[in-house]
Amino acid sequence: MERVIVDKAGEETIASGHLWVFSNEVRERSADLPAGELVEVHGEKGGFLGIGYINPKSLIMIRLLTRQRIAIDQGFFERRIGNALKLREGHFEGSFRVVNAESDFLPGLVIDKYEDALAIQLLTWGMERQKEMVVAAAERVLSPRIMVLRNESPSRQEEGLSQYTELVKGSVEQGMTIQVGPLRFLVDLMTGQKTGFYFDQRESRLLTKEFAPGATVLDCFSYTCAFGLYALHFGARSATFVDSSAKALELGQENMRINRLSGGEFVRGDVFEFLKGSDREYGLMILDPPSFIKSRKKIKEGERGYIDLHKKALRRLADGAHLFTFSCSHHMKRQRFRDVMRIAAYGKADVYLTRELTQCVDHPVLLTIPETEYLKGLIVRVARR
Ligand code: SAH
Repeated sequence: MERVIVDKAGEETIASGHLWVFSNEVRERSADLPAGELVEVHGEKGGFLGIGYINPKSLIMIRLLTRQRIAIDQGFFERRIGNALKLREGHFEGSFRVVNAESDFLPGLVIDKYEDALAIQLLTWGMERQKEMVVAAAERVLSPRIMVLRNESPSRQEEGLSQYTELVKGSVEQGMTIQVGPLRFLVDLMTGQKTGFYFDQRESRLLTKEFAPGATVLDCFSYTCAFGLYALHFGARSATFVDSSAKALELGQENMRINRLSGGEFVRGDVFEFLKGSDREYGLMILDPPSFIKSRKKIKEGERGYIDLHKKALRRLADGAHLFTFSCSHHMKRQRFRDVMRIAAYGKADVYLTRELTQCVDHPVLLTIPETEYLKGLIVRVARR
């Protein structure tokens, strides 16, 4: 295995518990290392720091797999997946995220479990090159009936990897459903968003129980319509779902049907336009948009988007209404997200913070790797002026 020497800053990052080495922290490496190659990482004084994989074209040049001198073989992946499973024991059964990349010391790898089916994402060159071992290890530890590689994502594009979906085991049935909390949801393993279902919002959706009884609900950026369907299940009077994707709304409609719920209205369109164009007021609103801040350079622009969205949302909230609002951008900091809410309410409303929310524990936040925290949520109560 080739050696790569990192500078003092790189060494300190690794000592602090992080798994990334940035390109400017790499002191010495052979010029011709192919993307995804396993390398030994050493400090300037020669000390062994760990084994990782390199992508010479990426700003995050090395992602560490281990701080020990061990073989990166199928057994390694089996142990890592086994540990990830142990971490989630007692919290989940059936359907959940088994492996969440860096959080589980498997940078670049995501494994979602949909009952006895697995959706696997290899997000980096380093993981792509371990494909066979990863699939074999997942098979061994989790014994799935169906396995799909959902190798489509913006991060793969950034890495210069192709986008593809591949069925590696079993056959995919139409109309497959999973139980998540009190409801069942359809999952499209081959073409659903990300790997098919957002598990990170599982706990937050359950919190609609407190606010749903009798409420008129607006679920914005609804995708599978899980938030609003939970609210209907918990006694909301009606729920309006808004999403720009017709396919998402069809899925939502089907989800309403299979759970024998009623009172849903499905609107295809842009949420900003919808909020501007209607004068109806709601007692409970959910805002769960895609990330508006994809990179550090886009922070200012993204913040303006969030403020604009919240200003528009506030106009549609009745006095005393509750808003569940989320940002899934790592670059939006917790305190700043509160500021977004405060700025949007300026001169219009008094806003109480009822609860702060985060991603569900199958997307573990490792404090030593701040980037593992991305989802921030607020439940606020709005008092109109
Ligand atoms: N709330 C969902 C997840 C939302 S994912 C859940 O609980 O699972 C984000 C969704 O926003 C996607 O379905 C996407 O189609 C939709 N979307 C993105 N931009 C939009 C826009 N400007 N207006 C309406 N929907 C949008």
